[in-house]
Amino acid sequence: MSPIPIQLFENQMSQMQVMLQELVELESPSTDKISLDRLGERLVEILAPLNPDIMIDSQPLSGDNIVARWPDSNGNTEGGFLLLCHFDTVHAIGMLSENSVRISDGKMYGPGIIDMKASITQVIFALQTLQNSNRWPAAPVTLLLTSDEEVGSESSRPLIESLGQNADLVLCMEPALPDGELKTARKGVARFEVMTKGKASHSGAAHQDGVNAIEEMAHQVLALQELTDYDAGSTISVGKITGGTRTNVVPDECHITVDMRVPTLSEAERMIKLVNSLEACLPGSEVHVTGGIEREPMPRTPEIAKAFERASEIGTALGISLEEGSTGGGSDANMIAPYGVPILDGLGPQGDGAHTSDEALTIASMATRTALLAGILSEW
Ligand SMILES: [Zn+2]
Repeated sequence: MSPIPIQLFENQMSQMQVMLQELVELESPSTDKISLDRLGERLVEILAPLNPDIMIDSQPLSGDNIVARWPDSNGNTEGGFLLLCHFDTVHAIGMLSENSVRISDGKMYGPGIIDMKASITQVIFALQTLQNSNRWPAAPVTLLLTSDEEVGSESSRPLIESLGQNADLVLCMEPALPDGELKTARKGVARFEVMTKGKASHSGAAHQDGVNAIEEMAHQVLALQELTDYDAGSTISVGKITGGTRTNVVPDECHITVDMRVPTLSEAERMIKLVNSLEACLPGSEVHVTGGIEREPMPRTPEIAKAFERASEIGTALGISLEEGSTGGGSDANMIAPYGVPILDGLGPQGDGAHTSDEALTIASMATRTALLAGILSEW
């Protein structure tokens, strides 16, 4: 059969926008459990007419994660499709007043609109339309809605890994690349904290007795930044620095946080070893490094390449010419990649300004991407 045409989703655009507006206006920063759970409860209500088996993964600190499952006709939930979404955003409560939900020049604005509330809307409308058109997939369908993707997915990682390993195809609903490309490779992410320890003293009366931890850190910052190797695809960025107490005190402590991106596991190992072997430069000072890999790299495996090929065939049947690309950003798909499961990532809509106060969705992409998702589910 041929996939459900884009037109059918274009006809539903106004309903999609109404739902999207509601989801965006239920602000949900990763660190605000009450707001996350409020949105989570609403998502469960919205899903109810589709009759899923709902499992709530209660969390003490982060928002509760939600699993919605549709078994196959034999009641089997193993294998099949895993739809991966997160409903937290990087935006603090109140950002809505800076980037209110509005439509202008073919774009719809709002905090978290493409990362990834529009994707959640796409999933709901794709599933609804498949159900209404009697095109529901034969294989089991699992939808995982997580609450902490933007802060490293600590609470949701066990679910992501266990459901991901068991899936036959993972559909990661992160936003598309700028021209609608799917993401067939992602860099891995490592995070570190580096602390330098010196010795405090009076900066005037006992200058020679002090060991300046900020001076020591200056050496470490330069050494770290120099580890960046664009040819190898590995980058390091010192992202935050704090240290010292008062101008007239030789500081005895300084802290930095470090972001590392790596394209492969072997690069990860090489780079992590370099960071862990930092040595103090000043006599009497110390360097302490903690941290490590947060999300494994997602290289373009043969399984991913093959899945992309099939997705682009389905795209062609819809009149979409699908391209692929890679990104330095990590997602929850990175955690599944090491298991060798086929993954399609970047199935969300197009837009721009993710993580900024100008975050906006390209409205025209919504119908196309929803049709692509529904097509993948019905035609795979
Ligand atoms: Zn995201």
